[in-house]
Amino acid sequence: MREIKHWLDGQAVSGTSGRQLPVWDPATGEQQAYVVAATKAETERAVASALATFPEWRAASLSRRAEVMFRFRELVDANRKEIATLVSQEHGKTVADAGGELARGLENIEFATGAPHLLKGGYSEQASTGVDVYSIRQPLGVVAGITPFNFPAMVPMWMFCNALVCGNTFVLKPSEKDPSVSLLLADLLRQAGLPDGAFNVVQGDREAVDTLIEHPDVQALSFVGSTPIARHVYEAGTRAGKRVQALGGAKNHMVVLPDADVEAAADAAVSAGYGSAGERCMAVSVVVAVGTIADPLVAAISERIGRIAVGPASDPAAEMGPLISREHRDRVAGYLADPGTAEVVVDGRDAPVSSGPGFFLGASLVDKVSTDSPLYKDEIFGPVLSVVRAETYDDAVQLVNDNEFGNGTAIFTRDGGAARRFQYDVVCGMVGVNVPIPVPVAYYSFGGWKSSLFGDLHMYGPEGIQFYTRSKVVTSRWPDPATSQVDLGFPKVR
Ligand code: NAD
Repeated sequence: MREIKHWLDGQAVSGTSGRQLPVWDPATGEQQAYVVAATKAETERAVASALATFPEWRAASLSRRAEVMFRFRELVDANRKEIATLVSQEHGKTVADAGGELARGLENIEFATGAPHLLKGGYSEQASTGVDVYSIRQPLGVVAGITPFNFPAMVPMWMFCNALVCGNTFVLKPSEKDPSVSLLLADLLRQAGLPDGAFNVVQGDREAVDTLIEHPDVQALSFVGSTPIARHVYEAGTRAGKRVQALGGAKNHMVVLPDADVEAAADAAVSAGYGSAGERCMAVSVVVAVGTIADPLVAAISERIGRIAVGPASDPAAEMGPLISREHRDRVAGYLADPGTAEVVVDGRDAPVSSGPGFFLGASLVDKVSTDSPLYKDEIFGPVLSVVRAETYDDAVQLVNDNEFGNGTAIFTRDGGAARRFQYDVVCGMVGVNVPIPVPVAYYSFGGWKSSLFGDLHMYGPEGIQFYTRSKVVTSRWPDPATSQVDLGFPKVR
C-alpha cells in the first residue's frame, strides 16, 4: 500500500507516527493509499522549516517572487491532465470537472503574478512642511492553510499563491481524504524556483491542525471546511493571537421567479445541484420556486435527472461521480429515507449504480420540503436537491435571509428590476443573477456571510493580499541641523 508523504524542506518525507489514515478510491470502494497523520513534532518541523526560509524569501525581490509564480503557472498548465487525473482518482469527480477546478486555480496564480502592482503603497509628499508619509505592506511570516476534500487543488491555490508572492512562507495541511495533489503542487513550486522550506505540507488531521493553531511562530491561519471546524479554528486561532479567515459550510438557495425561463432554470438547477455530486460549497441545494413556476420547474428538473450519466471518473461519458466516503454516502442517503412531510420525486438510492461497491448515490429530487426539516436545515453536501415552494418574492428572500448560512445564492428571472432588488435585499456574500454558481473571478474575493465565514477578510483576490500582509506607515523628515530645536508639544501638522 502506497504512503502519501509529507513535504518538508523541499522533499517528500515519510510519516513516523504509525497512525495511518486511509485514502479510498470512491469509485470502487477500495483503499488505494494512506497518509500517516503528522505528529506535533513533525508539524513543528514544518513550521521551523518555513520560519528558517522566511528571511531569504522575504528578501527576494518582487520581480523574483512574481517570476516564480509565472513559472509555476506554466508548470501547472503543462501538467493539467496529470493534476486533474490525480484529483479524480482520490476525490471521484470527473476528470473534466477536476480540469475546471484547476482552471479556477490557475486564475489565482495569474492574479498573484500581479503582486508587484498590488503591493504598491501610498506616498504623500509634504504631508507637513519637509515631511513625507508613506505606507508599505510587509509579509506576516509563516502562515498556514487547512483545506477541505472537495477542491484539493483549487482551494490550496486560493491561499498559497497570494501568501507566497507577498513574501510569506507556508505550511499546508490538506484534507487527508485526497492528499496526493498537494505533493505534486509542492514539487511544481520547487521546480518553479521557490526555495526549499518556503512551502511545506503536513498530512494528517486534528493533531496537526491544533499544533498549527497553537504554534507561536504561525502568524495567520486560512481555513476552508465545514462550519463547526471553521468556528473552532477561528475561535482557537484568534485566542492564540493569530489573524484568521475561516470559511465554513453552505446551503445555497436558487430563487426562481414565475417569469423565469423554465428550461434554462432547470438546466441551471441540475448543473449546479448535481455537478461534483453536490460536493461543492457553492452547489445549489435548495431551489425556491416562487408561485406558479413550481410544478413545471419540478417536472423539468426530474426529466433531466433521468439523463445524467453517473459513473466512475475513468469513464469519459460519466457526468457525475461517487461521494467521498461510504459514511458520507450513507449519511446523504439517510435524508431520502426520512424525508418527513416532503415528497421524494426522484430517489437516487434506486439508481443501479447506488448498489455497487463504490460510494455512489444517484441524483435525487425532493419537493415541498418544509423549512423546519433536517433536509432543509442541514448542509447535506450530496446530490440531493430540495424544492421549497414560496408564494411571493418577499417570502423567497425572507427564506434566504433567515437561513443560517450565507455563502452563495442566485435569482432566476427575466425582470432586471427584480434582480437588482434581490442583489440589494439578500443577506449573502456571493450573488448570481441567472448564474447558479457565482464563484467570483480571482481579481475579486471569495467569501460568504453568516455561518459561512468567520473573520473579516474574504479569500483570494485583493482581500487575500490584504490578509497576507500588514501595513506599515513611515513618517520621514530630513531636517537641516541648523534649524533643529527642542519642542515638547505633540507633533502638529503644518
Ligand atoms: P472538514 O471541516 O471535515 O475538514 C476540513 C479540514 O479540517 C480538513 O483538512 C480536515 O482534516 C480538518 N479537520 C477535520 N476535523 C477537524 C477537527 N476536529 N479539528 C481540526 N481540524 C479538523 O470539511 P470537509 O468535509 O473536508 O469539506 C467539506 C466542507 O467544506 C463542507 O462543509 C463545505 O461546504 C465546506 N467548504 C466550504 C468552502 C467555502 O468556501 N466556504 C469551500 C469548500 C468547502
